[in-house]
Amino acid sequence: MKRKEINSSRIPVYRDTGFELSDAETASGAFRQETENKREPDLYIYSRYRNPTVVAAEAEIMKLEGSAWALLTQSGMSAIDTALSIFQRGGITRPWLFFSEIYGGTISFAESILKKRRGLDIHSFVPVNESYDLAMFKSVISTLNPELVYIETISNPMLIVPDVAGIIKIARKDGSKIIVDNTFATPFLWKPLESGADIVIHSATKYFSGHGNITAGVLCGNDPGIMKDAIEYRKLVGHMLSADDAYRLHSQIQTIELRFRQQCRNASQVAEILSHAKQIRRVWYPGLKEHPSYADAKKLFGVKGFGGMVTFDFAGKTGSEKRKRRDNFIKAVSDKIRLIPTLGDPRTILLPVEAVWGLKYPEPGMIRLSAGFEDPEELLVTIKKALKKIT
Ligand code: PLP
Repeated sequence: MKRKEINSSRIPVYRDTGFELSDAETASGAFRQETENKREPDLYIYSRYRNPTVVAAEAEIMKLEGSAWALLTQSGMSAIDTALSIFQRGGITRPWLFFSEIYGGTISFAESILKKRRGLDIHSFVPVNESYDLAMFKSVISTLNPELVYIETISNPMLIVPDVAGIIKIARKDGSKIIVDNTFATPFLWKPLESGADIVIHSATKYFSGHGNITAGVLCGNDPGIMKDAIEYRKLVGHMLSADDAYRLHSQIQTIELRFRQQCRNASQVAEILSHAKQIRRVWYPGLKEHPSYADAKKLFGVKGFGGMVTFDFAGKTGSEKRKRRDNFIKAVSDKIRLIPTLGDPRTILLPVEAVWGLKYPEPGMIRLSAGFEDPEELLVTIKKALKKIT
């Protein structure tokens, strides 16, 4: 952050472990204001606390989510750990309510770390007929009086879109804090902070970085008290993102809008084709009228799109017939569509649901597909050809 020596239009990668401080007075000023998140060059101390390259990437995310602050971490899970742990206050923590159709890693974190190890009172709110009932949520909230509510904008793998705005309204009225994982929706479909969420989380590993080559997470918000707690937690637990990853994220996030729009378009076309294929028993895509969340998704996202994920299940008389069709499909598309257990990649990828979730979703023919931003013609031809092959 000293004199600019080269006319570069890129941000510098500051790999410093510790930053040079001009004298003792500057040093003590910097240490005193550590959790303020100030950007003055003299206030950088140590990269685990704060790093200028990371701060530059955070500024891009603040613009996207419309937040007063954003804090990058080394993974989506470390963002989740930070967002949750700062509300834990020893024995005085009230119950925490998690929507049950959230990312499996978050469920395991809540069960194994928060409940079993830290002894927190964890509850789960379960959907009925693949959608969440607002009236039921209201009654659960008034019975439990939870300290916090944790929800995802689009769930995985059934792609349920709850009435998140309605849920936030009810939860806020009863004094609960609300954390929303907005990874699947991205701020292009919806911005949870505008509806009153306290913290928005992203696995930046997915659409934010968008090329399957960075593991990162971020939490965003407007409340300065929450920010200070999160800065302190990130620093003491060592969750800070590296300057190199922040630099790459800063570059790759410039194209998110183009990428995500195309991913939504591709997903919607794939869902349409699959929904008319006789080899397919059922398609889950919030943009299809028959999806249980269609009305809520339309209310929340308007005409912006319905996300880049599609889940579908093969028809068949028996489990083994369905499995065979699934496997034949995976083989038939494998030149173009690979089996990679992530999402938001440049090319379309897929995942057999049974391999990940086991018996939670007992349909053995289910596949979760993450649409890429490749040429849709090529993608649709690949899928149509594969469907023909397995007839
Ligand atoms: N949130 C959601 C919705 C996810 O799908 C994932 C990972 O798949 C995570 C959080 C965790 O992110 P990461 O893998 O970057 O730790």
